[in-house]
Amino acid sequence: MFDDVSTTKPAPMIDPFGRSIDYLRVSVTDRCDFRCVYCMAENMAFLPKKDLLSLEELDRLCSAFVDKGVRKLRLTGGEPLVRKDVMTLFRSLSRHLSSGALDELTVTTNGSQLARYAADLAALGVKRINVSMDTLDPAKFRAITRWGDLADVLRGIDAALAAGIHVKINAVALKGVNEDEIEDLIAWAHGKGMDISFIEVMPLGDIEPSRLDQYLPLSVVRARLMDRWTLAESDHRTGGPARYVTVRETGGLVGFITPMTHNFCESCNRVRVTCTGTLYMCLGQEDAADLRAPLRASEGNDLLYAAIDRAIARKPKGHDFIIDRRTRRPSVGRHMSMTGG
Ligand code: SAM
Ligand code: SF4
Repeated sequence: MFDDVSTTKPAPMIDPFGRSIDYLRVSVTDRCDFRCVYCMAENMAFLPKKDLLSLEELDRLCSAFVDKGVRKLRLTGGEPLVRKDVMTLFRSLSRHLSSGALDELTVTTNGSQLARYAADLAALGVKRINVSMDTLDPAKFRAITRWGDLADVLRGIDAALAAGIHVKINAVALKGVNEDEIEDLIAWAHGKGMDISFIEVMPLGDIEPSRLDQYLPLSVVRARLMDRWTLAESDHRTGGPARYVTVRETGGLVGFITPMTHNFCESCNRVRVTCTGTLYMCLGQEDAADLRAPLRASEGNDLLYAAIDRAIARKPKGHDFIIDRRTRRPSVGRHMSMTGG
C-alpha cells in the first residue's frame, strides 16, 4: 500500500462548459505485446523507461484525481497488463473502492495476459473490464495485431468470466477486414453473456496503412444489422461514450462508439493521463499539461491540484477529427497507445 499525501479535500473539477469531470483514464505504459495495424506502426519507438512515472507516483496521481472527484478510474495503455508489477498498483488503488471514494476501478486490455491476472483483478474489486478483440478468425487476428495469438485472448476472456467479471468486448470496425464478421462477433459475445461495442477508427498517429482504407462508418454497420435483427434504443450508459441498442433476438447490448459520424463531446466527463504524467484534456486535441513536475516538486499535493485546475480550465469543447481524401495528416500526432484508449 502506498502512502496518502493529501491534506484537505480539494475542489471538484468543472470545465468551462459546465461539464463535471469524474472519469479518469490512465495509460500506465506506452508499450504493448501487440502491434495492431490501426493503433501502432510496426517499428514503434517507445519512451525510455526512466521517463515513466513509478507505480508509487501513478498511485499518488490517481489518488489526487480521486480527491478531486473522480469516481471512475480506468487503467489502460499500451497494454496495461504488461507493465511490470501492475497488480501492485491495482491493489493499492482498490483502497478507494473499499473507502467508497471510487465507484469503479477498471481496465481496458488486449486480453493476452488476462488468464494470469483475472482472478486477482476480481479479488481486488474489478467488476467490469473491456477486452479489445476485432475478429474470431485466428489468421485475421494475427494480421490485425501483427503479433497476437487469438487463443491467448480467448483463454483470458474465459478466465475473466469464470472469475465473475463482466466482460465487454470492444471491436474496431475495419473496412474490408472484419465488416463481414460483425454479426458473428455479436452472436458470439451475446452467447457468452458479454456486451460488445464497435468503434470507428480515429486518425491518431502516423501508421503505414491509410486511415481512409480502414475507416468504416458505424452508420453503415448499424443499417446492415437492422436488415437482420431488431434493434431497440437502450438508455444503458457506462459513463463512457458508447450509445447502446438491445438486439431483440439475442437480448444483448451492442454499443456504438462514433467519434467520426456522431460527435459525443457535449457530454464528455473524462480526461486522460499518460505514463509520463501528461494530462490530456481531450483525446482529439494536442493541448496538454505536465503533472509530473508538480507531482515531484513537493510531497504535498497542493501544486498538483493547482496544475490540474489550470488544465481543466482549458478543456476544449470537443475534437476536430477528419478522415477524408484531402486530409493526409493524422488529426493528432500521438498514437492511441500513448494517450490510452
Ligand atoms: N492495449 C489495450 C487494448 O487494446 O485494449 C488498451 C489500449 S488500446 C489503445 C485501447 C482501445 O483503443 C482498443 O480497443 C483499441 O482497439 C482502440 N484503438 C487503438 N487505436 C485506435 C484508433 N486509431 N481508432 C480507434 N480505436 C483505436
Ligand atoms: Fe496494443 Fe491495444 Fe494498441 Fe493493439 S490497440 S497495439 S493491443 S495498445
